[in-house]
Amino acid sequence: MAADGERMGASAQRTLEEAAQRADALRQEIERNTYLYYALDAPEISDAAYDSLMRELRSLEAAYPQLATDDSPTKRVGGYVEKQFTPVRHAERMYSLDNAMDEAELIEWMRGIEELYGHLPALCCELKIDGSSIALTCRGGLLVQAATRGDGTTGEDVTANVMNVKDIPRALRPGSLDVAADPDAPLEVRGEIYMPKASFEALNREAEAEGRKPFANPRNAAAGSLRQKDPAITASRDLATFLYAISDNAALKLKGQWELLQWLKEAGFHVNPDVQLCQSREEVLAFCAASLEKRGSLPYEIDGVVVKVNDFALQDAAGFTSRAPKWAIAFKFPPEEKTTLLRAITVQVGRTGVLTPVAELEPVAVAGSVVARATLHNEDEVHRKDVRVGDTVIVRKAGDVIPEVLGPVITLRPEGALPWEAPKTCPSCGSRVIREEGEAQLRCVSIDCPAQALERLLHWVSRDAMDIDGMGEEIVGRLVEVGRMSDVADFYSLTEEELACLKMGRTNKEGEAITLGHTVAAKLISAIEASKERDFARVVCGLGIRHIGKNTAAQLVEVYPSMEALKDASEEELTAVHGIGERAAASIWAFLRTPDNVDVINRLERAGVAMAAIRMEGEDRAQTLAGLTFVLTGTLTELRMSRDEAADALKAYGAKVSSSVSKKTSFVAVGDNPGSKYDKAVKLGVPVLDEAQLKAVLDTGEPPVI
Ligand SMILES: [Zn+2]
Repeated sequence: MAADGERMGASAQRTLEEAAQRADALRQEIERNTYLYYALDAPEISDAAYDSLMRELRSLEAAYPQLATDDSPTKRVGGYVEKQFTPVRHAERMYSLDNAMDEAELIEWMRGIEELYGHLPALCCELKIDGSSIALTCRGGLLVQAATRGDGTTGEDVTANVMNVKDIPRALRPGSLDVAADPDAPLEVRGEIYMPKASFEALNREAEAEGRKPFANPRNAAAGSLRQKDPAITASRDLATFLYAISDNAALKLKGQWELLQWLKEAGFHVNPDVQLCQSREEVLAFCAASLEKRGSLPYEIDGVVVKVNDFALQDAAGFTSRAPKWAIAFKFPPEEKTTLLRAITVQVGRTGVLTPVAELEPVAVAGSVVARATLHNEDEVHRKDVRVGDTVIVRKAGDVIPEVLGPVITLRPEGALPWEAPKTCPSCGSRVIREEGEAQLRCVSIDCPAQALERLLHWVSRDAMDIDGMGEEIVGRLVEVGRMSDVADFYSLTEEELACLKMGRTNKEGEAITLGHTVAAKLISAIEASKERDFARVVCGLGIRHIGKNTAAQLVEVYPSMEALKDASEEELTAVHGIGERAAASIWAFLRTPDNVDVINRLERAGVAMAAIRMEGEDRAQTLAGLTFVLTGTLTELRMSRDEAADALKAYGAKVSSSVSKKTSFVAVGDNPGSKYDKAVKLGVPVLDEAQLKAVLDTGEPPVI
């Protein structure tokens, strides 16, 4: 079954009355969206969010059977026939497929198939295109009618519109019907009509520019474009098709799905190239995994993989349930959107004093990972989205992207839910918070704010800044709690002895406080010691000056390679530095003139932290690698360097270092456990360097010879 995250919401203890109210509210919302979706092609929520509501209703009805009603949307098969188009009865019912919501369900289905036939037959795997189903009827080799799926039995006649879809042939290629059982009989070809992502985005940009309502997603844009009263409008939309079935397999003398796909291609239809005839469960699972991986890079939307028993005779032997064929299943990708409960909105204080509202959610599995918190960015954002504690909210997480709260399902809002009020004081130190003109953020400006201190200290030790290995949140947090640290200069007065004796917040079996111990303490001290020689840009970044991040720090240091030089620069001069805007310039200028900050910088300098770009031999090094672009991937174990360090060393010779591989990449240097960049390099034919070759480049500054 689907991951447990989604059950958590539904399984929360409810009285029967509460459950009944919730079920009622869910049904109304689902019905409303069904109408918006099918009749108006204008849903207000995504399919995934709709499915999420439907799942919650289903699990409520399962937990409280007395609440089930005959007219519940959970009992109905989707679909809707509009009156403005002529109804078309399909030659054979257009079934929808049963779904496998995860790998376990797919394996279960394959096991059933194996049991049914006594062996696992060849399975044809195809991408599940997220479009709108279409049935094209040909007679004597000519396209005569096109219909939507409708409710599966009866669809709508959209022939005039489909005639305007560019990739649909008006006639089959000559000779196609040689394999027809009866060349004069009508032949119904089925598939999916869709709108490419880029065309969808262009269409929505246009709609917005003209003040029209944008489409919710490419599928609705395709369905809406297909169901236009004026065929000229359909003609103006970029629609495309993938065909993959015929209504009656006996109509053609073909053995199976694979052969049918070849035939469709030869007959002139557009057939998706990503198909695979699989002989084992492992191959099917690998195809699904690979398809999920490429999902984002395809020019059209897919939402899963369709797996079919290839052989038509075997398909016939398996037959149908009342809803769907037994010989096929749709493996659905994990949804990228789910609905869940917003339990609270908490406020986090960052190192620059920014207050960030955070949504605390009933944990829910989205796109394969459990989401329990999501940033709400700032006060305006909370009000713009109008999310309130107690709301059912839609959470989105696509790929590696940070989870996001899209907004509430307003109709499911509990009575009395109040708009969120931003705090007037800092939740960490109690100081009054301010909001500067033109700023979206609330800010605590107290110098003594412990939350800010902790964040600033953690920023100093972070990988982008001083990269002090082992100095994590737990240890720094303890040091702040016991009053040992309040600013970044305090790191450099720590002793091994006091770190070794530092009591962590935990106790051992005997109830004694666990201390850090000498081994860890010694490592930390040497890591702190090593940080004194870090690049000056890292020091500037590490100070946590507002608007000065890793890249801006590097740009500043190019022009002002020491603290002396930086302090002497005027605000105008700083503004003139490439990549430094007025705000950043004003920020750093003010920072260096604030007595508390100057004090910290002086103490750092006295402790031995380098306050100037370290003059490496070859400061004016020949730019022997100019014009070359390197990409680094994997762990550089032999070189004992971080990728950032290796990148800096390459840049010193004038090379460019990029984070992604393209045809323009000159070399990809590969350490241990390289990621997908390595695969991409091989695919694009970009030369690959191992660590020894990279070392030679760094040692000599000469371009590699391959
Ligand atoms: Zn504060």
